[in-house]
Amino acid sequence: MTAPRYDWTTNEIEALLALPLLELVSKAHEIAKANTDNRGVQLAALMNIKTGGCAEDCSYCSQSAHHESLDITRTPLSRLDEVVMAAKEAKNQGTIRFCMGVAGREVTDGPEFDAVLEMVRAVRAQEMEPCLTMGMLKPHHAKALKAAGLQSYNHNIDTSPEYYGKIITTRTLEDRLETLAIVREQGIDLCTGVIIGLGESLTDRASALRVLANMNPHPESVPINALVAIEGTPLERQEDVPPLDFVRMIATARIVMPRSRIRLAAGRRRLSPEAQALCFLAGANSIFYGERLLTTDNAEPDQDRAFLRELGVQVPA
Ligand code: SF4
Repeated sequence: MTAPRYDWTTNEIEALLALPLLELVSKAHEIAKANTDNRGVQLAALMNIKTGGCAEDCSYCSQSAHHESLDITRTPLSRLDEVVMAAKEAKNQGTIRFCMGVAGREVTDGPEFDAVLEMVRAVRAQEMEPCLTMGMLKPHHAKALKAAGLQSYNHNIDTSPEYYGKIITTRTLEDRLETLAIVREQGIDLCTGVIIGLGESLTDRASALRVLANMNPHPESVPINALVAIEGTPLERQEDVPPLDFVRMIATARIVMPRSRIRLAAGRRRLSPEAQALCFLAGANSIFYGERLLTTDNAEPDQDRAFLRELGVQVPA
């Protein structure tokens, strides 16, 4: 076991990111072997339960009301029976974690939040791990979610403190960190990660990982996303992230957060099987499984299953 550290500097992390690739992957693999169930990959299903019309202006997101993305159709909150059916289906496919996404700036009291609490209870009743993303929240919301059985709350930090204002102007990184602290306070697991490919520098990537790696305890789950540029968003012309950059981020995240679930998240579909295999070797131990992420296509479930078997990764029958 590697004793976790909470005092990483940006320079140290940048030096890891810049290591010769094989040295970096090998270092990360050793850490993964010592600290995680090296052959097990957690499958997480993701369902958008309310889409579009969000008051935030995240430059990468087609759900923002500030952009004119044609890629998205606004939908009201899903019905409870739809969510239960999707959770059952995900469970039949061997998924334990069921993540629900509500587009929006923050949680507000009222019938919508009450309905979401009901959904959390219903997913928990399927003996699955409910996870939710719903924006910023207050302590009483976190308390109610915990009482309903919420396992994990997703709230990504997205990018470095230094680059944050270039990507989002309607809130600050401090706002996000405050929500994460509230969630942690209630004993709900943290799922918080980053997006690369937003035009940030290597130092920004290191700085973003530093923010996560210096949380004590480390977030239980850390999604590493690569931008999938969506037409109609301010980042629509951004070039794809080179696959090996993805591998470097996964490996470095594994080294600085030895026991967290490092999730190969959005952008995975663009990676070849070989690049994905390198990500698993570098310590990725969770993927989103299912046909669609919140706003972007994901890999096909059948292909995923066959591919994971070929790698010798433990997958459900
Ligand atoms: S990423 Fe979330 S908070 Fe930002 S615009 Fe999209 S739905 Fe809203």
